[in-house]
Amino acid sequence: MILLHCGNLTIEGESSSAVATYLRVKELDLIFDLGRCPLSFIGTGHVFISHFHLDHYFGLPIYISQRWLGGIPPGEIYVPHDGANQLQEIINQISLLDCGRIWNYHLTGVQAGDTIPFRGNLVAHVLPLSHRVPVVGYLICEARDKLKPEFYGLPGKEIARLRRAGTTVTNRIELPLIAYLGDTCSIPIQAHPLLNKCQVLICECTFLLPEHRERAEKTMHVHLDTLPALLEGFESEHIVLTHFSRRYTPKTIHEQINAVLSPEDRARVQLLI
Ligand SMILES: [Zn+2]
Ligand SMILES: [Zn+2]
Repeated sequence: MILLHCGNLTIEGESSSAVATYLRVKELDLIFDLGRCPLSFIGTGHVFISHFHLDHYFGLPIYISQRWLGGIPPGEIYVPHDGANQLQEIINQISLLDCGRIWNYHLTGVQAGDTIPFRGNLVAHVLPLSHRVPVVGYLICEARDKLKPEFYGLPGKEIARLRRAGTTVTNRIELPLIAYLGDTCSIPIQAHPLLNKCQVLICECTFLLPEHRERAEKTMHVHLDTLPALLEGFESEHIVLTHFSRRYTPKTIHEQINAVLSPEDRARVQLLI
C-alpha cells in the first residue's frame, strides 16, 4: 500500500483505473472510495463513495461484514443518492448469502450540494462531478468557532460572562482540509467557495498520452492535457494524482507528468503509483 504525506494528513491506499481505488486519511477517520477493503481499513469510521463503478465500491461488503463480525458499531457509509437503494438490496442479498441474516450497517444517499457533519467538528460538502454514471466528489472541512471581531481583546472572564448571558460571541468558520474528486471529466472549481483553497486536492488523471485524448473524452476521465489549466485555480499546497490507466508504466507516468506540469505545479504534485 502507498503512503503519501501531505502536511499533517497522510493518504494511504492504492488507485489504478478499472482495478481498484481505496484511499484512507487516518487523521480524519475517513476513507474515500473502497474498491477493495484492506483489513487495516476496517476500523475507520466513515466511508465516502464517489460512484458505482466496481473499482470504487466493491470493498464495501468486506468492510461491513468485518465490522459486524468483530462487534464494531457500523461505520457511516455515504454513496451517491442515485443507486443507493439498489446498492442496499445488493448488500442485503450478499449478506443473506453469507450468513443467512442481514448485517447491521448505515448507508446514506447523498447528492451534490448536501452538507454532512461528521466526527464532531468535520463537515463533508458534496460536489457535482461528471462521469458516465452518477458521481459526486467530497470537500472535507473542519468547522471552528472564531471569536467575533467586536470581542477581540476582551478578558476571558468577560467573554465567558457574555456567553452565559446568552450573547453569541463566536462565528462558525470552516477550514478546507481535503477534497476528493473521483472519476470525472470536469473539475467544478466553482461548486464550493472553499474548494480551491483546500490544503490537499486528490484528483484523478487517468489518461496521459496524446493518442488517448479521444478515449478520455469517451470514458469521461481527466486527460493530462487539461490538467495545468485545471490546477491553475487551486491554491492547494498538496495535490495527489490518482487513477492512472494500467496501460502506463510508472516510468511513463513520471515522464509525462514532468513534461507537462510547470516546475511550481510539479513541486506540489504527488503521484499515487
Ligand atoms: Zn474508476
Ligand atoms: Zn468510473
